[in-house]
Order: sequence, then C-alpha cells, then structure tokens
Amino acid sequence: MSDVSSSELRALMARVPSVDKVLASEEFVPLIGAYGRTQVLNALRDALDAWRISAQSGDAAANLAVRALDAAQLHATVAAALLARNASRLRSVFNLTGTVLHTNLGRALLPDESVRAVMTALTQPANLEFDLATGTRGDRDDLIDDLICELTGAEAATIVNNNAAAVLLTLSALAAKKEVVVSRGELVEIGGAFRIPDIMSRAGAKLCEVGTTNRTHLKDYEQAINARTALLMKVHASNYAISGFTKEVGIEEIAPLAHARGLAVAVDLGSGTLVDLGEWGLPREPTVRETVAAGADLVTFSGDKLLGGPQAGLIVGRRDLIAKIKKHPLKRALRVGKLTLAALEPVLQLYRVPEKLTERLTTLRLLTRPAKDIHDAAQRVLPALQQAIDARYTVAAEPMFSQIGSGALPVDVLPSYGLVVRMTDGKRGGRHLLALEKQLREMARPVIGRIADDALRLDLRCLEAADEAQLIAQLIAQPKSN
Ligand SMILES: *Cc1c(COP(=O)(O)O)cnc(C)c1O
Repeated sequence: MSDVSSSELRALMARVPSVDKVLASEEFVPLIGAYGRTQVLNALRDALDAWRISAQSGDAAANLAVRALDAAQLHATVAAALLARNASRLRSVFNLTGTVLHTNLGRALLPDESVRAVMTALTQPANLEFDLATGTRGDRDDLIDDLICELTGAEAATIVNNNAAAVLLTLSALAAKKEVVVSRGELVEIGGAFRIPDIMSRAGAKLCEVGTTNRTHLKDYEQAINARTALLMKVHASNYAISGFTKEVGIEEIAPLAHARGLAVAVDLGSGTLVDLGEWGLPREPTVRETVAAGADLVTFSGDKLLGGPQAGLIVGRRDLIAKIKKHPLKRALRVGKLTLAALEPVLQLYRVPEKLTERLTTLRLLTRPAKDIHDAAQRVLPALQQAIDARYTVAAEPMFSQIGSGALPVDVLPSYGLVVRMTDGKRGGRHLLALEKQLREMARPVIGRIADDALRLDLRCLEAADEAQLIAQLIAQPKSN
C-alpha cells in the first residue's frame, strides 16, 4: 500500500519544522500582529498536523505535496485559514431574487436616519427606560407609542421582538385557558415555524375553528361564542390566496357581534402597512388605521415587512387591553432592545411626511421604482456580467416581475427588469446553470438570483446606484472561469 518506506517517512517528518521556530520567523510577525499569537499558534498547529497526517497516509499525491512543502506555502496556508476564520459570517449580498422583502435575506432595508440613530444608540448611553422629566424609571415603550398611535389612530401601543411574539403575547395575556374563535380559512402557516394553531396552544388558548376553508359566515362566529370565549380573531392569509367561491367576514361585521357579547376582536395583520399602497399604483392592503377604525380592538403586525423598519412586532389597540398585555411576564422576555427602538423611530417619523415617503423610505422606494429605471440599470450591468461569465452562457436584459415578499400580497407582481442568463447553445443546461448560480453566490459579495424556466434570472429592482457600481466593479474584476 504505502509508497514510502519507514526511513523515507522519518525523513519527511524531520522536515516538519518546530512550531516555535515557525512562529519566531519573520514572515509570521504580521500575522501575529493582525490576529494575535494565540490564534496564529492554533492555526499553525492545525496546518502542521494536517501535514503530518498526509505524510503518514502513504498516499502518493499527499506525499508529493509534503515533499514540496516549504515555508512560503505553510505561511499561505495559515494566513488563508486565519482570514477565513475571522471573516464575518453575516455578509452583505446582492438581492437580485426579485423579492423585495426577502425573509432569508433580512427583509426591509433601513433608511440612513435609522443607521445614524443605531450608531448613536450603540455608542452612547440613552434614556431607554429613564424618564428625563422626573428622573425616575421609565418605560421603553413610551419612546415610540405616541408616534405609533398618531400613525394608526389606536389608543395605545406596545412593541416586542417580532410579529410572532406579538401574537403569542396577545393570546397569552388575553386568552389563556379560554377559547379563541378563528375562521378555518385563516388557520395559516407563515414560513415554517409560525402556525396559528401552534401559537394558540403555546399561549395556552383553545382554538375554536369556525366555517370552512373557503367560506365563513357571521353566524359561524355567532354560534361559536360561549362562556369560555375570550377573543374573536382574524388572521391575514399572507402567503396564500383562495379564489373562486369564497366568503370571509369583515372586521366591521365581526366587531359589533364581539362587542355586543363583551368580547374583543384581535387581528393579526401580518405586514401591516401604515399607508394606502394604492396611492402609488401598488396592490392595496388594509392599513393598520383602517383595521383599527373598522373595530379591531387589537392589531398585531411586523416592523420589517411593508412598514420598512427593523425586525419588531407591534401591538396597537384599546388602552385597557394593551395595559393587560404589558403586564404579562412574557412581555419582559419578548421586549425589544434599544437598537430596535433607535432604528424604528426614524422610520415612523418618515410617515409624517407622506409626500416624501417613496423617496426616503427604502422599502417603498424599491417597491415603486419605475420599470424604466430598472431597465436602464440592466443595460449598464449587462456587459459586465457577460464579460464575467464564460462563452457557454448568454446574457439578455428582459422584462420580468418582482414580488413584494414576506407574505404581503402573494399573488400580485410588480413589472420589473433584469438580466436573464441562458445557455448559448440553446440547451437547457440544468447543471451548468447551477454551476453559474454557485459562481455568483461565491463572489466576494455574493450575488443571489434565481433559476426558473431554464435560465438564471437576476432582477435588478433592488440594485440601487451604489450597489450597481459595486456589482459592476466586482463582475469586471472577476477572473473568467472556464
Ligand atoms: C409575517 C407574519 C407573521 C410573523 O411575523 P414575524 O414578524 O416574522 O414574526 C405573523 N402573522 C402574519 C399574518 C404574517 O404575515
């Protein structure tokens, strides 16, 4: 088996230098300066161990590698290992998926005002829970609840880690050991772990399903109400749509029924937009204000979906119910940190100037970006992309449709533009397209597109000016792979 005799092996092992000698060598000084002695020592030990193991393996190729090993190669191996180990795991990517609010890519991008506020909050003490008027302990919700109420017409508000937390907390505080009436058409699962029936049981509430998947009537709710009922709940179907022979009962019908029986209506709005998107020609979604006005006693929604802010869950509604929610022990476990509040406040402030919203609120700017603008970007990026990939692929700029994402308006699409890469020979190119998708994903700043209909599609809606320049520079610098 072995290609080396024991004497050869001994000779090889003798070539492995001592750790101390290598560490003391001149070329290792900058590495120790950059990463510290401990990390360099560990990386060096790993490299030398790997070297010894391959020497002992008796494998001819490995032995050749060992024979060829020299100080420069050892240094390169250690430097590469340290660089990889110390690189940030959370990396910027180019979102060319065509989904603006992409949950896996971090949803909403925040405006500069939020960036500045977060930087300040990170580096300076703040009145997070300190009442500056009285010099006594304050409540972190007080920093933004006025603003939220102003923008939604609600009496009171509180904020937690995300919308799933908002729903869990609301049900825990108001419906534990009681029943919650929900239409069967609204028992949705939103992205894996968030399922209404599961959240319900986690909160200790009993789900009382009414109606059918496609049709639920007011009398279904009415007949379900009993002495144990705590809430009537409505859930935005978010990521699915039913069409055809359907009927759902609106909040304006459910609310009078609930109120006549002394019950409350809770609405999980999901995306929860604060403005009428129809104004900009986007598909209409019920706003939080309309939902409150229609009679909802509580409304829960996400901070990082259509609102365009940081990850958060907002609960707005009746003062007495919000007070009860805030007293529940889970509120403490689900509360937001100062960075979230710092990022959210400037976003909410932007809504006070609705006429500038499409310019200043990143999410809305991306959603309303004119197709012509995206078309022009596609023309500028096209030559750089064609140059970066090999001749087996051909790039074309083509119209396509973007999605809003994050469960908002699942069936509606926005006219967009992008680059479409197909096989030059007209073949389907399954594995070649996968290889190209991987090549783009492995770039310094990964480019994330999607494969559909035998083509790799890069929707340029979310590629704004600075990113466009960076992408073109990265593509041009790319060594051609063949
Ligand atoms: C998105 C969504 C959630 C979950 O919100 P997160 O902020 O992601 O926790 C809950 N309910 C509905 C209806 C949703 O659309």
